[in-house]
Amino acid sequence: MSKNATFQEIGQVFKDHDSFVVVSHVRPDGDAIGSILALGHALEGIGKTVRYLNEDGCPESLVFLPGSEKVEISSKAGPVEVEVAICLDTAAHSRVGEASFAIVNSAKVVINIDHHISNPGYGDFNFIDDSSPATGQIVYNLIKALDLPLSEISRDSIYVATSTDTGSFQYPGTTQQTYEMAADLVSLGLNVGEINQLTYDNQPFRKVELMRALLNALERSDDGRVAWWHLTNETKEEHQLIADDTEGMIDIIRSIKGVVIAVFFEELDEGKIRVSMRSKDKCINCSELCGIFGGGGHALAAGIRMTGPLEVARSKVLAKIREAINSSL
Ligand code: 5GP
Ligand code: MN
Repeated sequence: MSKNATFQEIGQVFKDHDSFVVVSHVRPDGDAIGSILALGHALEGIGKTVRYLNEDGCPESLVFLPGSEKVEISSKAGPVEVEVAICLDTAAHSRVGEASFAIVNSAKVVINIDHHISNPGYGDFNFIDDSSPATGQIVYNLIKALDLPLSEISRDSIYVATSTDTGSFQYPGTTQQTYEMAADLVSLGLNVGEINQLTYDNQPFRKVELMRALLNALERSDDGRVAWWHLTNETKEEHQLIADDTEGMIDIIRSIKGVVIAVFFEELDEGKIRVSMRSKDKCINCSELCGIFGGGGHALAAGIRMTGPLEVARSKVLAKIREAINSSL
């Protein structure tokens, strides 16, 4: 992995240029959207021109974030003249998606800010901190270190980025600094009750229908250590689901007592399968398991895109999980 730049070096790039794009990974989650909004708005606050790009736009579940209306779909963004592209929360260069990739490559300078251990450091300037539970927390540190303006938009975005990537400040990666940061955001006027309600208690009914379908598909290994479920294209069509609807659902089976590994298999277009994996035991590393099939992520949360059909992908992945569990006993 290449050496991290200092915040000061990144700050110098900010000073030396005027036009920026902030971009994140395909199928963006709260950390992806929150991080681009927070940093982009801080740059706008010092007079920079910023465009907010994502392959898929802003998911419906995050449109309550102020400033989210600025997020453009890369393939529909038209010509983008940009000096600096900043990739946030994006473990691999290609994870920005095709149209975003072309825009990032047209920039003079690429900055890569992320918290995925698997990030190879593909930017001209990289800041990868895998001890940070969310990219939003790195963005907060950067804004503070460079004394950039922390507007209400940046404040709320950092909170949602970090809250969603830490399972509401619960996962083991959550640090003392995460709570100190949250306290600082509250001191800046963040309305905790309101933002948590908008983030977590605001589900469209079709997501409850999805939950019902997933529960009907739930399976568990004989020893109760592995739980998995799947989602077919047929069910997606039946309930008119959108890509973002499955976000966070895996936490339901992860929470089962005795379960060490939870896995979610989802049919995608063109025969591809999306695998989402969670571990509750640091001896069973999801990132390594997913890496076997070309995926990646974090030790306790990772994913894969692999070829189907569903049954074949499922039996291959479950077999590797079984091996990992047996060898860790
Ligand atoms: P999720 O299961 O929520 O989609 O993703 C969990 C974590 O795994 C995220 O940090 C995400 O970046 C990573 N991840 C998910 N899918 C993939 C994938 O197909 N390839 C890689 N390299 N990482 C993934
Ligand atoms: Mn993240």
